[in-house]
Amino acid sequence: MRSTAILAVVMAAGPAWAEVPQVVTDFGPVQSLVMEVMGDLGTPTMLLQGGADPHDFQLRPSQAQALTEADLVFWVGPELMPGLGEAVQSLAGGAQVVSLLHDGGGIQRAFEEGGIDPHAWLDPANGMAWAGRISAVLAAHDPANAALYAANAAALQARLATMDGELTAQLATVQGLPFVVYHDALGYFTDHYGLNVVGSIELADGSAPSAARLMEIRDLFTAARPLCVFPETGRDPKFIAALSEGTTVRIGAAQDLEFIERAAGPGQYDAMLREIGSGIAACLQG
Ligand SMILES: [Zn+2]
Repeated sequence: MRSTAILAVVMAAGPAWAEVPQVVTDFGPVQSLVMEVMGDLGTPTMLLQGGADPHDFQLRPSQAQALTEADLVFWVGPELMPGLGEAVQSLAGGAQVVSLLHDGGGIQRAFEEGGIDPHAWLDPANGMAWAGRISAVLAAHDPANAALYAANAAALQARLATMDGELTAQLATVQGLPFVVYHDALGYFTDHYGLNVVGSIELADGSAPSAARLMEIRDLFTAARPLCVFPETGRDPKFIAALSEGTTVRIGAAQDLEFIERAAGPGQYDAMLREIGSGIAACLQG
C-alpha cells in the first residue's frame, strides 16, 4: 500500500516531473529571471548569497557540490565573477554552462579603457533577450515542459517591456543631467536611457579607489558639476561623504544593482531596475 501511495504522489506531480533539470545560477539578477521562467516546475540553486560582492566571489565546498550535480548553469560570465571561472569549467563537467553575457542573445558594451563591461543585466533589453535564451535552453533539456517555459518567458518579457516604456518616460526628463555613480557599473542602464554619468568613485571591478583616483574624482566634482552622486547598498559611503562635502552635489538613493541586500525572486529583477530609475529621476529633478 505504501509504495502505491508514493507512486500516486509522484504521478500527481506531473508526467514531466523527473525531467526538470537541476539548475545553478550565479547571483540575484540571473536567479530572478530563471525563477520566473521555471515557474512552479523547479527552483534553481544560487551560488552567491546575500551580502556578497560578485567581483570577490569565492566558491565554498557546499557550492562546489551543487555545481557537480547541475544539469544546467546560467551565469553572467568570468568577467563579472573571475573567482567562479575555473570552478565552472572543472566542476560542472556534466552540465551545459550558459554565459548570458556571451551567449544570451543581448548586447555587450565595452569600457572606454578596453574590455567587456560585465554589468549587462542592467540593460532591460538584455533581460528580455536572456529570458528568451533561458527558456530555449530549458526547453531543450526538458521538451515536455517547453510550452510552459515559453509562456513564462513571454509573460516576463511583456512585463519588462511595459516597465521599460515607463522608465523611458520617467527618465526622459533628466536626460543629459550629469551625475556620479559609486562603482563603474551603470553603463548599460545609462546607455539604454540616454543618461549622463560623468564618473565613478570605484572602478568597474569594485576595487577601492587609490588616493590619486580620489583626487581625480574631487577635481571632477568641481569641473563637471554633477548634480547628484549615488551610493551603493552595502558599500562604504565614506568616500561619498568626503567628496561631496562643501559642494552642492546631492546624495541620491543608494543603488542595489548587484543584489547585495535584495533577495532574488520573481519580480525582483524589474523591481531593481525601477528602483534605480526612480532614484536617479528623483535626485536629478531636485
Ligand atoms: Zn560590479
